[in-house]
Amino acid sequence: MPHDHDPLEEGPALRVRALEALMVDKGLVDPDTLDSIAEYYERETGPRNGAAVVARAWTDPAYKDWLLRDGTAAINAMGFSGFQGEHIRVLENTKAMHHVVVCTLCSCYPWPVLGLPPTWYKSPAYRSRVVREPRVVLAEFGLRLPKDVQVKVWDSTAEIRYLVLPRRPAGTDDRSAEELAGLVTRNGMIGTALV
Ligand code: FE
Repeated sequence: MPHDHDPLEEGPALRVRALEALMVDKGLVDPDTLDSIAEYYERETGPRNGAAVVARAWTDPAYKDWLLRDGTAAINAMGFSGFQGEHIRVLENTKAMHHVVVCTLCSCYPWPVLGLPPTWYKSPAYRSRVVREPRVVLAEFGLRLPKDVQVKVWDSTAEIRYLVLPRRPAGTDDRSAEELAGLVTRNGMIGTALV
C-alpha cells in the first residue's frame, strides 16, 4: 500500500469531489455557492453558535437574565433562529444543580445553536438510560458530579428544545467573550460535560 488511508473513507469524499467537478464543469453550480453552503454547515451553524450564546451570557448579566427568561428571543437576537429552534429554553447549571438534556421519544435538539445531534444523543441506550440512571450515564461521559449536586434530566419535545448554560470555569475572569466561547463544548451545552 502506498499510503495508509482507509479507502472506504476516501471513497465517498472522492465521489463527492468528482460530482462537484462535473457539476461545476457543466455550469450547474457555482463553486463559490458550494463553498458557502459547506461553510455554513461547518462554521455558521452548530455548536459554535451555542458557544457564542453561552460566552455572552457569562460576560453580560443583562443578556443572561434575558436568555434565562426568554431563550428563544435572546438567541434570535444573536442571529440564530430557524427550524427546530422555535422554542428554546435555557437551563442554567449552578453549584447545586446540573441539567442534562435528552429526547426520549426521538432526537429533538436545538439545531440553530447546536447543529445536528451527535449519534449517541439519538441512541436508544442514551435516551432510556439517562432518565433512569443519569449519574451512571454522566460518569460514562467522564463527568462525576459530587453527591450534593442535584441532577435534573429534561426531555425535549417537538414543542420545546433545551440548551444548557454551563458554569463559567474558575480563573477565566480576564478572558474575552471570544476566548470564553472557545472553551464551550457541544456536550457542555447538552449537559454531558461541565463546560
Ligand atoms: Fe425528539
